[in-house]
Amino acid sequence: MYSSLSHLACTACTATLPADRLATTCPACGKVLYARYDLEQASQTMTTTALTERPWGMWRYAEILPVVDVANRVTLGEGGTPLLATPRLGSTFGIDRLLVKDEGLNPTGSFKARGLAMAVSRAKELGAEALVIPSAGNAGAAMAAYAARAGLPAHVLMPADAPEATKAECHAYGAHVTLVDGLINDAGRVARQLADAFGWFDVSTLKEPYRAEGKKTLGLELADQLGWRVPDAIVYPTGGGTGIVGMWKAFDELESMGLIGSDRPRMIVVQPEGCAPIVRAFEQGETHAAAWQDASTVAAGLRVPVAIGDYLILEAIRASGGTAITVSDADLMEGVRLAATLEGIFASPEAGAAVIATQRLRESGYLTRHDEVVIFSTGSGLKHTDLIAPSLPVIDPDSDNLPETIRHSAQC
Ligand SMILES: *Cc1c(COP(=O)(O)O)cnc(C)c1O
Ligand SMILES: [Zn+2]
Repeated sequence: MYSSLSHLACTACTATLPADRLATTCPACGKVLYARYDLEQASQTMTTTALTERPWGMWRYAEILPVVDVANRVTLGEGGTPLLATPRLGSTFGIDRLLVKDEGLNPTGSFKARGLAMAVSRAKELGAEALVIPSAGNAGAAMAAYAARAGLPAHVLMPADAPEATKAECHAYGAHVTLVDGLINDAGRVARQLADAFGWFDVSTLKEPYRAEGKKTLGLELADQLGWRVPDAIVYPTGGGTGIVGMWKAFDELESMGLIGSDRPRMIVVQPEGCAPIVRAFEQGETHAAAWQDASTVAAGLRVPVAIGDYLILEAIRASGGTAITVSDADLMEGVRLAATLEGIFASPEAGAAVIATQRLRESGYLTRHDEVVIFSTGSGLKHTDLIAPSLPVIDPDSDNLPETIRHSAQC
């Protein structure tokens, strides 16, 4: 199993670059660079039969991953997450085949592990000496963990109101955390200055080519788990959009390798009402998304007012016949409640947005009973217990009539 990485290519102009040195964005136009592979060569060894012999996890697709030397993999066991049938949620929504891909089970509790494992591995392979990242929370935590694992210094810039658990995680992994009085794009500008000033390598989403390659494994793994086919629809809570564009790239590569056909899932973008630049651009028929002013939502990972990959996200939605939808903060927390109470999946608020959007799209008739729908539960709810904060009865263990009192308060 060798990587058949061949070069980097711009997604917006005709520029190409060698892949054997650190790269950021396109030197000609500033847009997103993608890793490109010799897919013909990859298809010789990455066959369905060969894959049945390999362990689950994101590294099993080595031929179409960018890490050249296996010794440079920085891994904590990311990927290989369950694709769960969710019949109770499905019957509540009126969808016969509803599945949840539970990404909360990744190291550091979110699918950011996939992207950062890959980006940190490649940064190490290509000689980076220190890493810097702007993050709404989960990406910083994942980067801090993988940087610790690689023995590289890590610098994280987070909005001051990022989830407390993610600040604690970064600190625990020994990263240098600085809080920014602003949003993730403000943190991004600070990260850029630090990268320029000190030569730290900036692993901002889609501002280097390899986080998307890690997130691409969401699509590879999904097709693999479904027996080399794709579902009818994918519902994805979208911030920077690395996951959606990564999956879209994955499906094209799999088709070129003869592993899937030309069918594509409808790609459905979900954003909160308080920050929905992609939904607005989709509705207005734009190819780029204007910055969202005064972004505000409890789903921290979706509070991304500007996405450098906006044109790639919009292209994936349109080319797939997908759609884009907003949900309110109250509704996305209801999505968290439904997944937890009906299926035992404690999802993050971002993932709750995808759950409730699925119900809305079924109600509107966009999704039908017969569609096979996959919801991406992108992160774990365990980092967000402050948003649930139940008020619970406290009893005196010596009081009279205890069983009746408790049964009454639990309304059994
Ligand atoms: C970052 C994040 C998202 C958004 O992912 P993108 O691929 O950047 O669009 C969604 N959910 C969670 C839990 C996240 O951490
Ligand atoms: Zn370019």
